[in-house]
Amino acid sequence: MLNGCMMDDYQLNLSYVLERAGSLFHRNEIVTRNADGSLFRYTYGDYYGRTKQLSNALKRLGVKEGDRVATLCWNHHRHLEAYLAIPAMGAVLHTLNLRLHPSDLTYIARHAEDTVIIADRSLLPLLEQFKGDLPSLRHVVVIPDDGPTPAGYLDYEQLIAAESNQFDYPRLDERTAAAMCYTSGTTGNPKGVLYSHRSAMLHSMAVTMTDTLAVGENDAILPVVPMFHANAWGLPYAAVLTGAKMVFPGPNLQPEVLLDLMAREKVTLAAGVPTIWLGILALLDANPGKWDLSSVRTMVIGGSAAPPAMIDGFKRRHNLIVTHAWGMTETSPIGSLARVKHHMADAPHEEKLKVWSTQGFSVPFVETRHVDEEGKVLPWDGETMGELQVRGPWVAASYYNNSEQADRFTPDGWFKTGDIVTINADGYLTITDRSKDVIKSGGEWISTVALENAIMSHPAVLEAAVFAAVHPKWDERPLAAVVFKPGQSATKDELRAHLEPHFAKFWLPDDFVVLDAIPKTSVGKFQKIKLREQYGDYLVKQA
Ligand code: AMP
Repeated sequence: MLNGCMMDDYQLNLSYVLERAGSLFHRNEIVTRNADGSLFRYTYGDYYGRTKQLSNALKRLGVKEGDRVATLCWNHHRHLEAYLAIPAMGAVLHTLNLRLHPSDLTYIARHAEDTVIIADRSLLPLLEQFKGDLPSLRHVVVIPDDGPTPAGYLDYEQLIAAESNQFDYPRLDERTAAAMCYTSGTTGNPKGVLYSHRSAMLHSMAVTMTDTLAVGENDAILPVVPMFHANAWGLPYAAVLTGAKMVFPGPNLQPEVLLDLMAREKVTLAAGVPTIWLGILALLDANPGKWDLSSVRTMVIGGSAAPPAMIDGFKRRHNLIVTHAWGMTETSPIGSLARVKHHMADAPHEEKLKVWSTQGFSVPFVETRHVDEEGKVLPWDGETMGELQVRGPWVAASYYNNSEQADRFTPDGWFKTGDIVTINADGYLTITDRSKDVIKSGGEWISTVALENAIMSHPAVLEAAVFAAVHPKWDERPLAAVVFKPGQSATKDELRAHLEPHFAKFWLPDDFVVLDAIPKTSVGKFQKIKLREQYGDYLVKQA
């Protein structure tokens, strides 16, 4: 073999991201909305020094390379300091999900063997429910986000104030672990995904590409997606890499608060799960022209399917463009996004809407295929459903210390996503279901996502989730849970009539149950397992 004559041993380290921001973008801003509504702002120059102070403080606390340092924090600038201070020194940033039950947090923090937890003061009531069960825990550092640090805890500000703002970071092998997130399935224990410096760096670069999210120095980025949900979709690292302004919402994620922040800070890109955006759209519709959102170039929506009616509503009524993205904790997370290709540049809005409503095609370096139950690779015909498999440099190759889940990885090097998709000839994926949510009625598959999207296009409907209910004859039949917009409603016949033109008769839900709210997971997705638990025997009882 003839080797190339390039610096192929140059290791991709996250410390580079910090050094670049400190030396090139020191004037650029980072803003946090505090719990009391006030705004805190400083520059990347300030950020750079404080992040190094934090690394020094952690070193003084005894943190060594490979140690797991957890955060239990909302989205704010000090969380961003931890995002780089920890991996840059060779330790592992472990973002804990503050919406989980203390028993899950106990399992996760014990499994990760966290040695230090950096926690917001406002979250101490949660931390205090599980910190006593963590044998590996040596220190808790408290961020005084909503008041002074209580006695008996280390105070973040005091701790870093005593430290130098210089830190000569080690040159790490790029495969060194940098960060970890746990992902909860409906069965079994949460699974740890352990990102490397290399995967985080390559993912950050991918996020800056023009044909993906095009994150750049002119951006002002609002991650509504929590920093504990797949690293806020990689946006913080991409922002520091490019010097983009960051706008953190803190703990208050009410639609009006987010809209105020977007308008005031001239946000260009905001990201979050569909439920957040459904609330925002309803508020915009009720108050046209109240907020000047002319700076917003896109809203990245993913984590679950973005309903086409929402994408359409944003574009038509508010001239706001949604980028519908698909990803998983296991894929760092960005795997695909729905960009209209050049050959459709002049296509009518309806045609583009169909494309924007898919989960898009894969971003560079992520490969996709779908397979049947025997593992046979299926054709890209836009019709055949199968399980999506992916591979690429920021896709997990295994779970952390978890041999029970080894069968999620194929012998030929692909990750089994558990998502059921069709793929069309242009490579666009359409997720029809999570495999565990699929409805099999008399042996035929029914896509719950397609039904939900159609129900949510009814003007009176705010949210809808379709799930499998046990049926004496057909095994399973679709049942729809519907939440109406405030002050609005529709009859079951009206809802059925709304769906009829678009689906085969056997796809139509057998019934509709009206709820005040659809149960949500810790990251804001419909929690269908809860609906199945509560209404799974609904049709049997009705019969
Ligand atoms: P998590 O690791 O918690 O982010 O969950 C990943 C899962 O969320 C995927 O396997 C999908 O089932 C779902 N998901 C993510 N993005 C989308 C999307 N754009 N449309 C539909 N489902 C999605």
